[in-house]
Amino acid sequence: MPPFAICSNQSCIYTFDMQVDKESHFKIPSLLCPKCKSKVILYCRECYSPLFHRPGQQDPRCGYCMAQLKEPMRR
Ligand SMILES: [Zn+2]
Ligand SMILES: [Zn+2]
Repeated sequence: MPPFAICSNQSCIYTFDMQVDKESHFKIPSLLCPKCKSKVILYCRECYSPLFHRPGQQDPRCGYCMAQLKEPMRR
C-alpha cells in the first residue's frame, strides 16, 4: 500500500496521507477523491513506483523518476 495518493484531477490538490487517514485503506482500490470524485493516483504512471514521498501540491512528481504524476493539462 503506497503511503500517499493524489487526486488525478488537475484542478484538485487533494492528497491522501495513508499514515494519517487510515480509513482510506479500506476504500482502496475503489478509492475516489472525496472532493471531486475523480480517480486517485497511487502509482507513478511512468515507472509504477508507489508514492513513497508526499507529492507537492502544485507540481506533484514521482520521487524516483521525477515524472509528473498527473496527466498534462489538455488544451
Ligand atoms: Zn479531487
Ligand atoms: Zn516514476
